[in-house]
Amino acid sequence: MYWADRVAKEIIDSGKFKPYWVDDMFTPSGFAHIGSLRGPLVHDLIYKALKHAGVEATFSFVINDFDPIDGLPEDLQKDFSKYLGFPLRQAPSPKEGFESFAAYFADDFKNVLASLGVKPVFYSSYDMYHEGKFDVAVRIALDDADKIQDIYQKVSGSKKKEAGWLPLQVICENCGKLGTTRVHNWDGKTVAYTCEINMVKWAQGCGHSGRISPFGGNGKLPWKVDWPAHWMVLGITIEGAGKDHASAGGSMDIARQLVKEVFHIDQPYNFPYEHFLIGGKKMSSSKGLGFKARDAQALLPVEVARFLFTRTDYRQALEFDPMGTMAIPDLFDEYDRCYESWIEGSNEDFARVFEMSLIGDPPPKEKTLLPRFRDVVNYIQMPNIDILKKYAEINGKELTKTETDIINERVKYARIWLEKYAPDEFKLQISETLPEKAKDLTEEQKEFLVKAVNLIEQNDDPEKLQLALYNLTKELKADAKKSFSALYIALIGKEFGPKAAWFLLQYPKEKVINRLKEAAK
Ligand SMILES: [Zn+2]
Repeated sequence: MYWADRVAKEIIDSGKFKPYWVDDMFTPSGFAHIGSLRGPLVHDLIYKALKHAGVEATFSFVINDFDPIDGLPEDLQKDFSKYLGFPLRQAPSPKEGFESFAAYFADDFKNVLASLGVKPVFYSSYDMYHEGKFDVAVRIALDDADKIQDIYQKVSGSKKKEAGWLPLQVICENCGKLGTTRVHNWDGKTVAYTCEINMVKWAQGCGHSGRISPFGGNGKLPWKVDWPAHWMVLGITIEGAGKDHASAGGSMDIARQLVKEVFHIDQPYNFPYEHFLIGGKKMSSSKGLGFKARDAQALLPVEVARFLFTRTDYRQALEFDPMGTMAIPDLFDEYDRCYESWIEGSNEDFARVFEMSLIGDPPPKEKTLLPRFRDVVNYIQMPNIDILKKYAEINGKELTKTETDIINERVKYARIWLEKYAPDEFKLQISETLPEKAKDLTEEQKEFLVKAVNLIEQNDDPEKLQLALYNLTKELKADAKKSFSALYIALIGKEFGPKAAWFLLQYPKEKVINRLKEAAK
């Protein structure tokens, strides 16, 4: 059974977690890296599997825009340092046209999600706090501060905080920062606070002290308490977390203990999902490793990008390393295998993976030519080939609209792959310098190259040049295959290549001629 269907079945069979409400979240403090798409996709797939199983379900996404800014993307460090400590929603947008710092990054992330077919209902944490929806949770947390501290200690082994600690931060009325305030003395109506100069390393408080109501958006619960408070306030019954939050004693464990002992609601269904790895490393935006989520569309067609996530069970690490590897062509091959299974009804699991990867309407369920990505890569590098004609020929009949669209889309992504990601051996393009292999050319091959130079100088028509080159091999009583190989070795370091004359004539003649002469020395 497909993994998301298995999870949905487990949820339904348990008789618990009703009404089904799947939730995930995002903190808009920078552009998300591609690995952070795993959470939204896993949640989306479980939500869709629940719907597919015929039950009612809701899917929401909380934008954590009330969190303080506690770090900045490199390019914003100069101009935005003064906003460190402010709620994400209360700092200005780095670019015009967005309401706030949070909106700028949240909008981008929402667009990426929509492009991948992930369309939850979005909730703003900032708005919910300001509308008073978290007031109940804030009151419970303040009343039960000691119990919360005990749970922190028991679950994560953290050391006891100072006496009078309260699980809340308020926005300083003097400087507007949230991340720098320490709250104490809850009297049932107001809390006292100090905006501390040196409490955190990343922001400086102003030293102001005061008393304020903790409600209506004046204050925010710390993340470990805020998370389970979401579950209570919205009624969330299904939410997983990446392995880093889900580790023993981590924030998920604390949150689950808090719902049980403090908020007194049922624990949501949990599924700790594995990381997204690139070259065996966890992707992290702070270390600058890996791609941004918004680049996914530049890398792969949206359905194939979605497929990358749908095919892998959440319990397995997702490895993807497109740089200089066959990861992208291999991914297309797997996608095609699932596409074919879906058409033919040959493998239920593969068919289901394909179905779950669809974003728009499904394609016609009929025999469809799926050009292998690596073949497309080769064809587009052969200047004498019209790829649509070529595939019509291979197909033995006219291409359907779906087939034509698929080919055109693959041509687009094959070009991107060649330019940015392909290993060198896939590039049928004249190399920068004389390939090593040219050292092994025989005297006979060198003679052919010297004479071929004259023919290239004289001919601009590929048909004629091709014939002339062929006749030259006869004239020299040379082996035709070895002679043509010499051309490819000199230009691209390979024994074979696209049809010679067309290939040679696509470059400036001088460049080709100089190279052949160099190889023939
Ligand atoms: Zn202050």
